[in-house]
Amino acid sequence: MPLANMSVAKMKRAVQGVTLFAAAAYTTLLVYQTVSAQQQVAAARGWHERAPRSVSRDYDANSLGEAPRRGDAATRLHDLFISVKTTSSYHRWRLPVVLTTWFQLARDQTWFFTDVDDKEYQQKTNGHMINTNCSSSHNRKALCCKMSVEFDVFLESNKKWFCHFDDDNYVNVPRLVRLLGRYNPQLDWYLGKPSIRAPLQILDRDDSGQKISFWFATGGAGFCLSRSLALKMMPVASDGKFIGIGEKIRLPDDVTMGYIIEHLLKKPLTVIDQFHSHLEPMKFLRQETFHDQITFSYSRYSKDEMNVVKIDGFDTRIDPTRFLSIHCFLFSHFSFCPR
Ligand code: UDP
Ligand code: MN
Repeated sequence: MPLANMSVAKMKRAVQGVTLFAAAAYTTLLVYQTVSAQQQVAAARGWHERAPRSVSRDYDANSLGEAPRRGDAATRLHDLFISVKTTSSYHRWRLPVVLTTWFQLARDQTWFFTDVDDKEYQQKTNGHMINTNCSSSHNRKALCCKMSVEFDVFLESNKKWFCHFDDDNYVNVPRLVRLLGRYNPQLDWYLGKPSIRAPLQILDRDDSGQKISFWFATGGAGFCLSRSLALKMMPVASDGKFIGIGEKIRLPDDVTMGYIIEHLLKKPLTVIDQFHSHLEPMKFLRQETFHDQITFSYSRYSKDEMNVVKIDGFDTRIDPTRFLSIHCFLFSHFSFCPR
C-alpha cells in the first residue's frame, strides 16, 4: 500500500514497530544538535560554496551516458567495496538510520571508517568499523587521512569497485550495482557528480604557479572508482601518499581525489546525475524517480528548515532525515515498513 494512503491508525502501528526510533523527541533533539555542529563546521570552511544543482539538471536515467557492456559477467553486489566516512561524535546520531536501512542490503560490502574504537557500533556493524587513527576533526588533513585509509583498505580487498559515501548518505544499493554493471572495472572509471558548474581552477605549485583546472566528484554525493583506475593511482596515492597530495594542494579529500585522477592521471570524471549531496535542494527530487536515484542526503538550512527529500511516509519526528520513508518506498518488505 502506498504510504500516502495509509490510515492514521495503521501509520501509528507501523511507527511503533520502529523501536530504534521510539524516543521521537529525543531524536529531534539529537538531529538538531548534530546539525548545529554541522553549521559551525560549514561556517569555518570557506571553500565549498558550490552550486547546489545537478550539472545537467536532468534526472532522466537515459542521460546517464553509461557504456553498455557486452559479453562481461554481470556485476554483483559481491564486487563492491563500500566505504562510509564517519566520526566518533556522529556514530549515535547518523549511523542508526543507515544501519536500519540501506546497510541491511550490503552488510558484507560496507565498512565504516572512523576515528575511535567504539565497541557498541563495532557490534552493530558486524565488526565493520575501521578505526583509521586519524584525528577526529573536520580539517583537511583529518579528512584526507580517512580517505587515504579507505583507499588503501579497498586496494587490499580484491573488489572490483570502490564506492565512497558520507554518513549522511542514503544509498540505493541495487541501483548502484546496476549502474556499475554498465561499466567495465578493467577500464578506468571515475564516476560521481560535481557540485560546481565549471571545473575547479587552482594554481599548480609543481609548475611555477600555472593555472590548472579539473573536475572532482563531491564526496557528499558519493563516488566510485574502478579497480583498474585505483591501480593506476597507486604510485601517487597508496600507503598514505594521498595525504601528502592533499597537503600539497591544500584542498579537501574529494578535491584531492579529482586532482589525482583528472589532473595527474588525465582520466576524466564521468558525471552520474543520480548521485545527490545535500548541496542540492533535495525537495526537487520527484518521488516517481526515486527508484532510479542512487544516493540521497540531508542537511539543515536553518533552525526550522531541513533540506530533505519530500516524501510521504513516517512522521518527521520519527524520521527527520526521511531515510526510513525512502527505504520503505523502495523496499516495502522490510519489517519496520507499514503494510
Ligand atoms: N566528518 C569527519 N570528521 C569530522 C566531521 C565530519 O570525518 O570531524 C565526516 C562526516 O562523518 C561525514 C563527512 O565528514 O561523513 C562530512 O561531514 P558533514 O556532513 O558534517 O559536513 P559537510 O561537509 O557535508 O557539510
Ligand atoms: Mn554532510
